[in-house]
Amino acid sequence: MTSSRIYLDYAATTPVDPDVVAAMVPFFSSTWGNSSSIHAEGRASRAALEQSRLAIAEGVGADPSEITFTSGGTEADNHALKGLAFAVRKKTGRSHILVSAIEHHAVLESAEALQGHGFSVELIPVDGAGRIRLDELERLLTAETAVVAVMHANNEIGTIQPIGDIVRCVHEHHALLHMDAVQSLGKIPLDLHALGADTAALSAHKIYGPKGIGALYIRKGVEADALIHGGAQERNRRGGTENVPLIVGFAAAMRKAIALCGQSRAAAEILGKRMRVKLGERWKFVFFNGDGAERLPHIVSISFDGKAVSLDGESMLMNLDLRGIAASSGSACSSGSLKISHVLKAIGRDEATARATLRFSFGRDTTLDEIDAAVAALGSMIDVHEK
Ligand code: PLP
Repeated sequence: MTSSRIYLDYAATTPVDPDVVAAMVPFFSSTWGNSSSIHAEGRASRAALEQSRLAIAEGVGADPSEITFTSGGTEADNHALKGLAFAVRKKTGRSHILVSAIEHHAVLESAEALQGHGFSVELIPVDGAGRIRLDELERLLTAETAVVAVMHANNEIGTIQPIGDIVRCVHEHHALLHMDAVQSLGKIPLDLHALGADTAALSAHKIYGPKGIGALYIRKGVEADALIHGGAQERNRRGGTENVPLIVGFAAAMRKAIALCGQSRAAAEILGKRMRVKLGERWKFVFFNGDGAERLPHIVSISFDGKAVSLDGESMLMNLDLRGIAASSGSACSSGSLKISHVLKAIGRDEATARATLRFSFGRDTTLDEIDAAVAALGSMIDVHEK
C-alpha cells in the first residue's frame, strides 16, 4: 500500500506488525521441524508451539490446554458450533440451536449447515443498538436447546454484548454458549474464565498478526467433536501438522496487542469522537449505528437516512477508493445483486438507509488528519445527493 493511501478498514484486516514478522522468520528458515517429531528438530518446534499456546492462553485468561489452533476465526466458529452441537446431541439428545441475528456469517452459515443434520435453529433478536434482547433469549431457550452463539463484539457496528448476563441465562437452561471474540480480541480486555463462555473463536489477522491462523478456546470439561480428522495433533481436537511460524506470529501479535490495548483504545476513542462530531455537525441525516450501547471504539458505522439522501454504500466506497481512502460498506455483492447487511436489518434500518452505510475502522497508525480527510472526501460526495 502506498503511503498516500488512507486505510480505514482495520476491522477487515491489519498489516502484520514488523516485530511479528521478525518473530516468525526463524520458524520458516532455521527451526522448521515437525512439532510432532521426537527428534531435536521436532522438539525445538514443539517448544515454540507450546510457548505460543501459553502466551495466547495468558492473553485471554485461559489455560493453555483450552487453546486449539485453527486456520482462523471462520474455522474456530465452525468447529465450535458443529463440534458442540454434535457432542451435546450425542450425550443429551438436545437438538435446538440459538444464534444471535447479528452473528458473523461463519456462525450463521454453520448453524444453517446444522439444519441439514436435523438441528432446529432460531435467531435471537437484538435491539436498535444491536444488543441481544435478554427477554427474547429467555423466551427462546428450551429444555431442547443445546448451543447458543452470541458474539462478544460485532464486526459491522461494534456493539459489545453483555456476555456475563447471557452466559448466566444460557447455563441456567443447561445449554452451552459459543462466543465469537474475533473483533474484541486486543481491543478490550478479554478474560475468558471470568466471562464464562464455553467456547470462543479468536483470529490473528485483526491484531497485526498473520492471516490463516486463529484459535478455538474450549473451556475445560466441555466436549466438542473434532471437525478435521486425520491426526492426533492438538489433543486429537484438530488433525494436521501445526503451522508453527504462524502460531509464533499469532503469539507475538497477541503479546503486543495486550501490551498496547489500553493505549490503542484511548487513541481510538479520540479518533472516533472526532469523526462522529465532524459528521454530526455537517449532516443532520446521519445515524451512528450501535449508538446507545457499549461499543468497540475503533469502529464507526454510519448510515445516511434514505429519506434525505439517495446514496449507496458500494458507490460511496468506490468513490472513496478513487480518492485514496479504504473503508467498508454495509452491504455485500452476492450473485450480482447488492444484499443488505443482516446486521443493519436486525437493528431496524430500512433498506435505503442500510444501503447508504459505511464502516470506518481505525488502527494503531490512524491519525486525526486521516479522519479529517475522510470526512472531507465524504462531504463532496454526499452534498450532491441530498434530496
Ligand atoms: N468472526 C468475526 C466477528 C469476524 O469479524 C471475522 C472476520 O472478519 C471472522 C469471524 C472470520 O475470521 P477469519 O478471517 O480469521 O476466518
